[in-house]
Parts: sequence; structure tokens; C-alpha cells
Amino acid sequence: MPPANPFDTSYLRDAGDGDKLSEECGVFGVLGVADAASFVALGLHALQHRGQEAGGIVSYDAAAGFQSARRFGYVRDTFTSQSVMETLPGSLAIGHVRYSTAGNKGQTAIRDVQPFFGEFAMGGAAIAHNGNITNANALRRELIERGSIFQSSSDSECIIHLMARSLQRNIPERMEDALRRVEGAFSIVAMTRTKLIGVRDPLGVRPLVLGRVGAAGAGAWVLASETCALDIIGAEFVREIEPGEMVVITAEGVESAFPFRPRKPRFCIFEHVYFSRPDSILGGRSVYETREAIGRELAKETPVDADIVCPVPDSGTPAAIGYSLESGIPYAMGIIRNQYMGRTFIEPTEQIRNMGVRLKLNVNRALIQGKRVILVDDSVVRGTTSRKIKEMILDAGAKEVHFRIASPPTAWPCFYGVDTPQREKLLAATMSEDEMREHLQVDSLRFISLDGLYRAVGETRGRDAAQPQYCDACFSGEYPVTPADQIDQGFRMKEAAE
Ligand code: SF4
Repeated sequence: MPPANPFDTSYLRDAGDGDKLSEECGVFGVLGVADAASFVALGLHALQHRGQEAGGIVSYDAAAGFQSARRFGYVRDTFTSQSVMETLPGSLAIGHVRYSTAGNKGQTAIRDVQPFFGEFAMGGAAIAHNGNITNANALRRELIERGSIFQSSSDSECIIHLMARSLQRNIPERMEDALRRVEGAFSIVAMTRTKLIGVRDPLGVRPLVLGRVGAAGAGAWVLASETCALDIIGAEFVREIEPGEMVVITAEGVESAFPFRPRKPRFCIFEHVYFSRPDSILGGRSVYETREAIGRELAKETPVDADIVCPVPDSGTPAAIGYSLESGIPYAMGIIRNQYMGRTFIEPTEQIRNMGVRLKLNVNRALIQGKRVILVDDSVVRGTTSRKIKEMILDAGAKEVHFRIASPPTAWPCFYGVDTPQREKLLAATMSEDEMREHLQVDSLRFISLDGLYRAVGETRGRDAAQPQYCDACFSGEYPVTPADQIDQGFRMKEAAE
């Protein structure tokens, strides 16, 4: 029998985590500040919600060369010790936090932890990737046939091998060359000995922002998945990296190019609903404000008579506040989340595993008893947690339970850097809204419409509209990039299935 993995947190999935779409990865890089790796560790700590399985940092220093550290677990537990951080000297560093969305899901090996590093004729380079390459299997097969030796099961490693085979003269050009062969979603932070590089795929599916620490001309440059990671190190938000843009940053400044065939942007709409932190800014607007607007729209579309509005914490909180403000029904913290779950029980007993969602959430009985309760959640994936929460609310003496969901029914899997169950496991893929209500045994269940979600994020949905649109494939089944690998493995697109 294999030894118990002390970082196995799968039992927490029974406590609710397995019933959410899991965030993808977070990337961060900084150039021009002493002890850059410590800044990266702080940035990754702020991005921990995007990946909790493992993290890695690569740094460069003229005397020590490239150095790297990869660890399982939370950044606060792994990249805070002096013994680790002093192995990462230099004023240029990048990092990555991971939740596996490709490769060996759920059985990450340390070799799968990014950043990945390659030694090229013109010097070394490291890359950290947020997203998912949808033609990675085909690329990997081709590269292996041509002699590449892969070190990991990660889709992202293809980029390093494609760069190795490029005939271009320098690393940024090789990276451009490599990324022209790649399909899917990528927000990448990379580094050479002297350059910090940021790239976003032409659709701009995943976020990437540019920031600066200190005075113009004298300070340090930062690239990060979200603005909350700039805040933690006191960096100023400069701008978002544009879809299809590549920035090459040196001590002299930032050079920008658009090396890919332009496409209409399709940013992930779920970043607004759930993935990004509420204190981040996306598209010039705070994520919190957008979520509150989603809650208001939800209240307009799905009114119901009730006594209190409760969020399913934490991600349902801003939408519940919006619902309460719009409907005039009082807001109440009817469910309290234990913020300190983490990896609390390193080897949980069977009895602890069976406690499931109660490990994380507890009902505030005094607020719930005798009330008609509206529960606002961000999404329903498998529905297992929603059912358990409903039972806890009824056990606490609620008279009625009405679920209101701040996203449309999740009926399709994501192939762009989010861990979703297979389509058959998604409740909305096999049941109508009414069937879902019966399955969850609640008094009512309503979702925001896709048009309503677009209104709340400030857009009008329409494939021919001139204004930018989003990726909404997990709701609509309309995939902006054909998921070639998944089709090879038997996935049926909407047109073929319906
Ligand atoms: S499929 Fe859904 S989660 Fe994935 S990128 Fe599109 S909107 Fe986001």
C-alpha cells in the first residue's frame, strides 16, 4: 500500500470543495527589486485562491544563476522559511500556484509543479502558465516522435519543447513561435536572465495584469494574474495585458507587441462570478461590484417572498448583498464558514471525513429558525453541497428554503484551465431546472439567465454585437476554441449532440 500522502486534501472535497469548479492557476513575476523571490511569494500568497495544491518559484542572480524551488501545499507554509527563500536570490523571479487542470489530476507529482525551466543555446528560460492547451495531446505526440523527452504530465511543458525546436534567434521570438502552435487559453509569465515576459492568448480567456513598484524609471515591474497580488506588495496597477499581447520587460522598460492573428476577445465570464478575488479589478471594475450587480439582476429576474437573504459563504456573499439591496429583504449571515479549515486534519479519521460539509460551514440557528430563507450561491455543479446545505438549514428550523444561483446552469465542462467534472456529472447537463429543484428538495430554485449575467457585467450578449463578448461555454456549450484533445477522447460538442 502506498504511504499516506500528507498533502491529500481530498476529504475536503466532501466538505464542499468538490462541488465547485476549481480555480485554475495563478502566475506572478517581478523584475528590478532586490530579493525578488520574496515579492513573488507574497504575490502567490494573494493568488492562493487560484490554486492550493502546490507552488513554485524560479529566480535569477548573476552569481547563483537560475535557482528554483517547488513545494506541495500552501505558500504560507512553504515559501516563508528562510532556508527556502535564501536559495532563491536575485532581482528577477517568477512563480506559479497550481491546481491541476491537465496532466495527472489529483495526483500531482513534484515534476508537474511549475515554473518549467529550459536551457537553450542563448540561455535559460522559465515559464509559468495559467490556462489550458486544448491541442496538447497532439503536440506532445508530435514532439515525442521528434525526440523530445518530457519531464512532466503537464500540458504546459509542450511550450518549452516547442521553444527548443524553434529556429528563432532569441527567447521571446522562440516563445512567439511556440505559442503560434498552441490552441486554447494561456496567460503566461516567463523570464530569461534579463527579461520578464508576459503573454496572453488572442482571446484573452484568463486575466493578466501589469503593475509597477516605486517611481517610474527607477522601480520594479510586476506581472500578476490579478490586481489583488499587486496590492499585497504595494504595487500600482498600470494596465491589463491585452488579449494577444506580448510584453517584454527589461531594466530599460516595457516593449509591447501583438504577434498573433487577432481574434475577438472572449474573457472567461466565470472569473467575474467566482474565480477572481472580490478585491481584484477586472475590465476596469471591481469584482465585488460586479458580483453585487449580478445579485441585483438575480433579484429582478427571480423574485420570491421570504424573510431573509443568506449567502453560501464566501463566494455567494456579494451576490447575496446585491439580492438583498434590490429586493429589500434583510441580509443575514445565516451560514458561517470556518476560515481555518485548510489542511487541518493531516490524517483525518473516517469519522471526520463523514462530517462532510459541516467541517466548513455551520448554520447560525438563531437567525434561521422559523424563517423563509433565500440562499444565494455562485453556482451549482454536482448539487451535492447544495443538498447538504439545504438539510442543515432545515435542521436549524427554517420554514422554507429558496435557492438563487448567481450564474446560469453549468451544463458544459470547461477546457480552458478550470477543473470541471465530466459532462454527465454536471447536474444541469442531465436535468431541467424543475428536476434540479426536485432533486435538491427545495421550495424553489432559480438561476440568473445568461442575458441577465451579461447585463450585470455591463455587456449585451450577442455573437454579432460589436462590443467585446465573453467565453460562456460552460453555460451555453458554445466553445470559442474547439477542444481538439477532448473531442479525440470522445467529448461531443453541442452541435453534434443536440
Ligand atoms: S468554459 Fe466557463 S469557466 Fe471555462 S473559460 Fe469559458 S466561461 Fe470560463
